[in-house]
Amino acid sequence: MAMRWGFIGASQIAERVIGSLRKIDGQELVGVVSRNAERASQFAAGHGLAQAHTELERFLREGRFDAVYVSSTNEQHCAQTLAALGAGCHVMCEKPLAMALDDAQRMVDAAVAHGRVLATNHHLRASDCHRQMRALIASGAIGRVHGVQVSHAVYLPLHLQGWRLDRPDAGGGVMLDILVHDTDLLRFLLQAEPRRIYTSVSQAGLGRGSVEDSAMSVIEFDGGVLAQAHQSFVAPHALARLHVLGTEGNLYAQASLTQAGAGRLWLRDGQGEHELPVQPVDLYEAGFSAFVCACAGDGAPLASGVDGARAMATALAGLVSARSGRRQDIARKRRTGSWKPG
Ligand code: NDP
Repeated sequence: MAMRWGFIGASQIAERVIGSLRKIDGQELVGVVSRNAERASQFAAGHGLAQAHTELERFLREGRFDAVYVSSTNEQHCAQTLAALGAGCHVMCEKPLAMALDDAQRMVDAAVAHGRVLATNHHLRASDCHRQMRALIASGAIGRVHGVQVSHAVYLPLHLQGWRLDRPDAGGGVMLDILVHDTDLLRFLLQAEPRRIYTSVSQAGLGRGSVEDSAMSVIEFDGGVLAQAHQSFVAPHALARLHVLGTEGNLYAQASLTQAGAGRLWLRDGQGEHELPVQPVDLYEAGFSAFVCACAGDGAPLASGVDGARAMATALAGLVSARSGRRQDIARKRRTGSWKPG
């Protein structure tokens, strides 16, 4: 489907997404809005966008967009998404969807009310490695899954060492930055909901003030699977690892928890160890392609607004656990529409 696109936030990830969006037929990349006029015009000029704005309402009015990509800092996602939905746009929003669950629910409700698609950019669902793992788990290839280990530790590159390290108000910290991705991926792989979380956080050299740069969590899923998850901004040369343990065997992936869309995957069972071929995928192209199809009424986005809210619920509960020192029930949406633990 042909769509006119607007970019909300002159961010680094938007630069990468633009490259992927240009690979999808019919996508017209039109304009950007930034809080800073010079950044808006530099971003527009650098990426061949015709429009550069600093005022969101005017941007949405004049752009006549079919869809927008919200990739501002996290505290702005909710208001910008509500404005875009209100202006009739479909919205691909970055993670975490918002900073509070009630805000995330307002975004989900507004998308329904306006008949627009709201998606969350949880790109790891698009990986061939992860899609194979999900299919193998569902087929019973490793028996009943009972445990998962996730090691998602990176060294935050210099160009990203800004708000992530010192701005809790903008959603800084590994929990809202990386744990949301891992939670969404575990929900995708296990097809089960997280129920409780116990988290410890620390600062190991980069985080400032109250912002954590390292976190370890144990997450209990419905059905009894226990997941152990480590996220870090301070781990140079670390290899991301994902290990799914079943009663009949296990799946082990290396280097799949990245933006690169590659990685290696092994199945170990009674027959021995087999490496399974993994096709490289442009994760953003795949995610935005699914979104474009969903906007045309063909299928669903890889991760919906509700998926974004559920991943957020786990990270927020983990932060409560880290403060209290206790295991925390993860909030779920109640019939009344509000999100409550337990
Ligand atoms: P950036 O720090 O690059 O950009 C965030 C915002 O900061 C921009 O929208 C821009 O806002 C402002 N900004 C950009 N450059 C500057 C500058 N030089 N000085 C001051 N302000 C600046 O963030 P990221 O691209 O890393 O992340 C943006 C969002 O995307 C976050 O929600 C993050 O969680 C998410 N993300 C998701 C990824 C994924 O794979 N799904 C990967 C990376 C990030 P404005 O133009 O309005 O002033």
